[in-house]
Amino acid sequence: MGIHCVVERSNVAALSAHAAFVVERFVTPYRDVAGAPRLRRVVYSLPTRYAEEERYRRGLAPLDLVRPGLSAALRTLRGAGVEGRMLGMGGFPLCAAEDARAERPKQDVSAAERGERVYGRACGDCAVRPGCGGVPTAYFEACGEGGLRPVQAASTTGQGAPAAPGRAL
Ligand code: SF4
Repeated sequence: MGIHCVVERSNVAALSAHAAFVVERFVTPYRDVAGAPRLRRVVYSLPTRYAEEERYRRGLAPLDLVRPGLSAALRTLRGAGVEGRMLGMGGFPLCAAEDARAERPKQDVSAAERGERVYGRACGDCAVRPGCGGVPTAYFEACGEGGLRPVQAASTTGQGAPAAPGRAL
């Protein structure tokens, strides 16, 4: 059993409280005989395209607004033994979390998984870009680039610029 939470401007401020509610209402009271939560996961995603383009655009929340609440929600859920996801199809870029490095998947994102998503100018030197799916083009139109938070390389003694897969806006 899982919950899918579409994050919009209208609910972004409530993510932390929502995760606490989920734990109280659905995790704590319902565990199997081994004590594991029956609620297996909560998946957070950006909105997918709506029939009304302007409504979709208005719903996209800047990552600076998403980051604190989404990070708190993931901590709350994971602390309760529930898988908290923010990546994958329709999901967020890695820097939507406060610790983008910790969220980086083991496998790099393939071109097929990336689909039509793009990267901003700020993504060029981001150390986790190969593991990040980028954002929909409409994100930049709705929110600009200010919310992107590129991750610094761990060391400046590497072999030059990191690989920059995917399409830049
Ligand atoms: S700065 Fe760009 S590449 Fe880096 S995590 Fe954010 S969206 Fe992904």
